[in-house]
Amino acid sequence: VTGGGRAGSAAGADDVHVLYLAGSGRSGSTVVTTLLGQLPGFFAAGELRYLWSRGVQEDHVCGCGQPFGRCPVWTAVMARTDPRGRADAAGIGRRLLQRLRVLRVPSMLARRALGRRAVPPHPDDHVIASLYRAVADETGARVVVDSSKLPPYGLLLQRLPGVRVHVLHVVRDPRATAFSWMRRKVSRDRDDEALMPRQQPVKSSLLWLLWNLLTAVAWRDRDARVSRFRYEDFVARPREVLAPVVRALGADPDDLPFLDDHSVRLAATHAVAGNPNRRDSGAVRLRPDLEWQQAMRSRDRSLVTALTWPGLLRFGYPLAARRPSAGRPTTPTSRSAS
Ligand SMILES: [Zn+2]
Repeated sequence: VTGGGRAGSAAGADDVHVLYLAGSGRSGSTVVTTLLGQLPGFFAAGELRYLWSRGVQEDHVCGCGQPFGRCPVWTAVMARTDPRGRADAAGIGRRLLQRLRVLRVPSMLARRALGRRAVPPHPDDHVIASLYRAVADETGARVVVDSSKLPPYGLLLQRLPGVRVHVLHVVRDPRATAFSWMRRKVSRDRDDEALMPRQQPVKSSLLWLLWNLLTAVAWRDRDARVSRFRYEDFVARPREVLAPVVRALGADPDDLPFLDDHSVRLAATHAVAGNPNRRDSGAVRLRPDLEWQQAMRSRDRSLVTALTWPGLLRFGYPLAARRPSAGRPTTPTSRSAS
């Protein structure tokens, strides 16, 4: 095992290595992305599928605190990207949403079963591929960390020329994610009080189930370029859980900026789009965020459990939507996580 992932028939020595965080929303992938982005040679890029709309077009705030159009890193990256990316960012963003729609998932699976690309090729793909090349060239990164999460985008990405995808699937208890989706949260993406989008438990549960099972089907455990862990295990034992992921990418886990077993020191990143936690920096304590166990209505908890049970079983979560203290030992309850 080389660990660098360069082996394999279709791989080119010059490929851009992308660590793709796959799964569903509000799964804690933001802090994982920021943390991995601290490694030498890694660049935490954020949710790149939204770069065209929320970055180029709408000028949301970058992880560094500057609006996208004034961030020196993204300005330089965009100058290296295929110029069609700046000229038609709105179109690319809009077409990506259409191409990756949830209603297209059955046809994606059918195409994949026939050995074809799950997401049909499109002229935009050259522009998208040039973005990843530009990020790697401009930042000097050996690994670009993309927290876009949506499995269909990962399927699109891994068929782009010159891009070598490694997948990290982070799963979080769907009752915790449903609770997070219901909560009011300011996006901090612009200078207003705009809120993060919210979802009702039925929708968030069904999407949790779809995206996590699709991720598990699309990227199997036996593939050396696939890693998978539960967010709850990550916050309980972050060093232990991250070490094999980091080693598989040819990096040294000792380079992760741990202050102690549960705290890390994070430098600001240039992550675009996504959870406002991406702008957290300094000393950060990794916490399980178990507020849902106290504050979520038992009716909602039971509903989420009933809708997600195949995934609960697949990923080893208890079916009983129980009150706290029956779980694994963890650090004290607190807010945080994404
Ligand atoms: Zn920036």
